Amino acid sequence: MEQQRPFDFSDIPIVDTHAHGPMMGKDTASYLRSTDFWYNYFADELMPRGSMDETLRASIKSAVIRQAETRPNWTSIRHYLVKSYGLSSADINHVEQFLKGSIESKGITAHTLQSFERENISWVLVDHSMVTSEPRSKMEEFPEGRKKWTHPVTHLLQPKWAEKNGAETGTDVAVVVTKELHESKRNGCSGFKSHQAYFRDLSLTDVTEDEATEALRFLRKTKPESWFTFPVPTPRYKVGSVEAVALKKYQDYILKTIFCESGRINVPMVIHVATALTPSLKTWNNDPEKLYSVLDNDDVRRAKTIFLLLHTGFPDHHKITSLISQYPNLFVDLSWISSNTLCLSNIMEEYLSLASSMKIMHGSDTANPDVMAYAAHNTRMVLSKFASKLYDDYSWSEGEIYELAENLLHKNADRIFGTN
Ligand SMILES: [Zn+2]
Repeated sequence: MEQQRPFDFSDIPIVDTHAHGPMMGKDTASYLRSTDFWYNYFADELMPRGSMDETLRASIKSAVIRQAETRPNWTSIRHYLVKSYGLSSADINHVEQFLKGSIESKGITAHTLQSFERENISWVLVDHSMVTSEPRSKMEEFPEGRKKWTHPVTHLLQPKWAEKNGAETGTDVAVVVTKELHESKRNGCSGFKSHQAYFRDLSLTDVTEDEATEALRFLRKTKPESWFTFPVPTPRYKVGSVEAVALKKYQDYILKTIFCESGRINVPMVIHVATALTPSLKTWNNDPEKLYSVLDNDDVRRAKTIFLLLHTGFPDHHKITSLISQYPNLFVDLSWISSNTLCLSNIMEEYLSLASSMKIMHGSDTANPDVMAYAAHNTRMVLSKFASKLYDDYSWSEGEIYELAENLLHKNADRIFGTN
């Protein structure tokens, strides 16, 4: 076969295993930057606890915006859009005006479909965390036939949720949690999403039903120090306090219930692991090392649960490279990192140099269809450069290279999520 250089993977469909709803596009002023909602959340996390000092808040928020909007990914995205749409300038206002016109004239769904077709995106897995905790599909703006969804489980970890659902004991809680998981599966969900690493670590201990009951009864009598509300209210207690220990125990009991049920009913578990984005994300809560206690748990092993870790585990992606090589039921995606050019190539090359190409997937981690398109473009470009190295320096055949590319771009995601 005639050698093809650089390798062009545009004919291979790509699946995005982590996109967000609701689709951005109604507020086109924040199309090539983050939303005001996001900046406010970010700034709130940097305020002294309980402070109402609006002057301080305004100065923190403007520093947050400056820091976010000068990140290099936005410059790369604008240049990508200039090329894709044939625009005359990469000036942010010019590009935003163009996008605004396109979305207003076509509608957000047609605009998105055009981006998906351009980048050959076959489907996206939409995270409902920012949209709803209800166990049913909610992604109207996404093009028909190109969407699947994950059901968030974070609300199930909160003692208040048990109370609302009339659960008094560990056994009651397990019953109502399982009922909701089954309902979302019946309603067509393709995965369960935990974003626990925003507020606690990834470790899992075995907790009995009686211990869970005791923790729940105790927590009902306590008053949290504060609440972390992203996206659902989570109680915060003083680190190391008896209340914090009880909450961890209670949540471990529910998490194990969820992880095991996920395996039993064959709906993969999707877990956030990375810290680069907001100050509420801590490296110690996102440390992938803690996942050994999940992967080595006997009940989880019996349930044969499939896990997909989101966002590469940055900055602890080396541990993930090890983990995905060790556990056949563990996978990783490149979401969020995929729109950060050089970072993506370093991490992807490490994964593909040590682990099987059957363990890695593409994702974008965005609600913005043009960023979804850019992420797909960037993943293909970085993969193409790696493919040239395999071809030139390691004598891989074209067939071997295409097999690796197909696994990463869509076959793994189709295999793991496609049947649900
Ligand atoms: Zn996300």
